[in-house]
Amino acid sequence: MRPQQQYPRFSTFNGIDHERRWYNPTVMNVLGRITAMPTLPEPIKGLREVAYNFWWSWNPSAQQVFERLDPLLWKRFRGNPVKVLLEVQPERLESLAQDASFRGEVEAVVSAFQKYLSSRPENQHQVAYFSMEYGFHESLSIYSGGLGILAGDHIKSASDLGLSLVGVGIFYHQGYFRQVLTAEGQQTEAYDEYSATELPLVPVHDGEGRPLRVGVEFPGRTVQVTAYKAQVGTVPVYLMSTNIPENSPEDRRITARLYDPGQEARIQQELILGIGGVRVLRALGLAPTVFHMNEGHAAFQGLERIRERIAAGMPFREAFELVAASSLFTTHTPVPAGHDTFPLELIDRYLDGWWSRLSISREQFLALGLEQKEYGPVFSMSHLALATSRAAGGVSKLHGAVSREMFHDIWKGLEVEEVPISHITNGVHTWTFLHPELAELYDRVFPKEWRERPWEASLWKAELLGEAELWRIRNKLRARLVSDVRQRLYETRRRNGEIPARLRATEKVLDPNALTIGFARRFATYKRAVLLFKDPERLLKIMNGPYPLQFVFAGKAHPKDDPGKAFIKELVAKIKELGLEDRMILLENYDMGMARTLVQGVDVWLNTPRRPMEASGTSGMKAALNGALNFSILDGWWAEGFNTRNGWAIGDDRAYASDEAQDIADAQSLYDTLEFEILPLFYARGAEGTPTGWLTMVRESIKSCGPTYSAARMVHEYDLKFYTPLAERARALEANGAQKLKELAAWKSQVERVWGNVRLWVDNPGDTMANGEGMSIKAYLAAEGLPEDTLRVELVVRRGTGELEVVPLRPQGREREALIYSGTYSPTRPGSYVYGVRAVAVHPNQSEIEFVRWAGEVPHPEYAHR
Ligand SMILES: *Cc1c(COP(=O)(O)O)cnc(C)c1O
Repeated sequence: MRPQQQYPRFSTFNGIDHERRWYNPTVMNVLGRITAMPTLPEPIKGLREVAYNFWWSWNPSAQQVFERLDPLLWKRFRGNPVKVLLEVQPERLESLAQDASFRGEVEAVVSAFQKYLSSRPENQHQVAYFSMEYGFHESLSIYSGGLGILAGDHIKSASDLGLSLVGVGIFYHQGYFRQVLTAEGQQTEAYDEYSATELPLVPVHDGEGRPLRVGVEFPGRTVQVTAYKAQVGTVPVYLMSTNIPENSPEDRRITARLYDPGQEARIQQELILGIGGVRVLRALGLAPTVFHMNEGHAAFQGLERIRERIAAGMPFREAFELVAASSLFTTHTPVPAGHDTFPLELIDRYLDGWWSRLSISREQFLALGLEQKEYGPVFSMSHLALATSRAAGGVSKLHGAVSREMFHDIWKGLEVEEVPISHITNGVHTWTFLHPELAELYDRVFPKEWRERPWEASLWKAELLGEAELWRIRNKLRARLVSDVRQRLYETRRRNGEIPARLRATEKVLDPNALTIGFARRFATYKRAVLLFKDPERLLKIMNGPYPLQFVFAGKAHPKDDPGKAFIKELVAKIKELGLEDRMILLENYDMGMARTLVQGVDVWLNTPRRPMEASGTSGMKAALNGALNFSILDGWWAEGFNTRNGWAIGDDRAYASDEAQDIADAQSLYDTLEFEILPLFYARGAEGTPTGWLTMVRESIKSCGPTYSAARMVHEYDLKFYTPLAERARALEANGAQKLKELAAWKSQVERVWGNVRLWVDNPGDTMANGEGMSIKAYLAAEGLPEDTLRVELVVRRGTGELEVVPLRPQGREREALIYSGTYSPTRPGSYVYGVRAVAVHPNQSEIEFVRWAGEVPHPEYAHR
């Protein structure tokens, strides 16, 4: 399909022509850029619109057409069709326009594109999706890892599903860094300068046709923000930039780099994302019903939306409830460094003015995000996001549970299971990561609706995939990976000035027929990239055993993550030490393009995070989709995806006394499974030379993971579980002159005023034996000034440290000023239980519990004697 790959004539890391990049012939103070697209010959003029819609990034036939325009430019600019159109020779366009077969291809692509756009159903409520990073394609370097790729996949699937979504993010004109590795594995960071005009982005204009500008208040100045639109199928994504002439040189750099180290740079970017993002939407006349914060970076958006309401005359309480009722927060990591916190001094400096804009006090404002650390109070973006949203979730089942524990402090009165954070397990965009040749094979075997509804497990008839055909493609993809690895390695070695013999040696690394294991992801320490080397002797024994085995590694460490960088060096040193340089290859500058080649070409995808730090992980889903088998710690998605027949688990799901003990046990398990299960199974060949047992697992893996871990399933779930209910709730609150909202706000103010005086006590508290019969409970609730129908009294029982039961007690009228509640409880099975009784206040217009009072918490003088 693609022309035979050759060693490139240019240095093409990330598609930038680095050898010419620094030549800047102009001294002018650049005010803007002009994009002069060629006038495309009539028969192929439809390509222009296709180039400006990231739809091409998941449609191989569209990419093929652009590649045919000029294969060298295509390669040099990393598959960026806009750049190809800008650079291609006009004569070449003319001659291709005369070529009937090319015209046919273009026609097919353009009509598929138009069909795609016109066939999306319209959804009633609009969702605004805010994310600090997006991974749409390797040619747009505004992502660092899983979070960004997930955001890109979310947008693409929302388009596929016809959801009305609008994305908000930042265009970083220097992107995320390009990783440069020395021969010793020392990482240095290089930054390229990207021009929006050479990418599939278009500058956004306001209603009067002027370049869009919105202002965001910064200390002593207003920073101007503009935006570019990335069209992704039917979903527009507005990417903001401060790199415009009205801003000072320092302010122009605010949006230069993704995850610029330093807290001040971070708060500046987050102000642009949250406050600027809402203002950009408004400037475009958009009024989404639901706002989704993909990670806490975007939490300032809630402040701006509250401010808007207040400016329109709404009291704070109502504005706050309305904004929270229509907001959703997805948290993405249990790693503390993944949750932004700011010193209060920085908040005072950058958000001074916001408390008066919101008509609250500084203390009330700070309380929205306050988190107590050992070293004192900080302002946490995750806390702010939780405070200002009525729906929140983690990204896998296990991560949901870990997040409930992590944020338990915020809901002090609730048991940990009741913390209102649920989860939707991540998924990947099938069409972005599935190799086209496999997609065609699936087309031939699965019912054809699988393309329309890729989340439906019953359509994935993977058991019917022919063994020979599947194996042929697997071999082909592995061989393609091996050739890609050789070429990339050659480039790196050449750049590092290695001797000719070492350059020639790259042609011999890896074996296209050997079992190939991939490990690629950010080099964050919790991902334990070097776990494989825990017992070097054992590893060497396996590597030098009867079965050929090889590894490909890749990943970036965050520029400030010195331990992560040390892991890269350690990896390189270990490989050298063991003399495995031809069979263990570390690739430089992991990106989406490399990720696709890897997940499509490897046989086994390895993941060794320290449980439970991997919130979900998605690269393993991409691998499974392509017929690679997962070999992973039971963490994140794999803890729920593993079914014993679709891959392997490393270690077990228990906790260890120390990290070291866990590392040793996990490494042991890794070696055993690799040596005694994985290798023999891969090399057990049937009569046709195909590994029958292996392919049975491959088919099971495709079937069990492909549909379930698709972003289509994920976005569908977001719609059902969050978007639609939030939209309905927000609409109900606002209907009839916001009557329900006013009721809710008034009730909440009242509860807040009197809740401190609420008293709850029970008859005969203490230990008791339940000998066959139930235990009776009678509770007294003194809750003056609160409507009875918003109060509940509950018996809460927990068996050991395990299951929780909540038994509502029945109201039995009054005794003097106290409301009486009673009920009985019979343990369902023997064991030791603890119990408590609590009163909660919940308004019918809300679903979550904010007010809790446990019996005995505050002794009541009058009832204490009972
Ligand atoms: C999918 C992907 C990731 C996420 O990998 P995990 O193993 O899930 O952390 C990171 N980077 C790139 C380029 C990816 O394509």
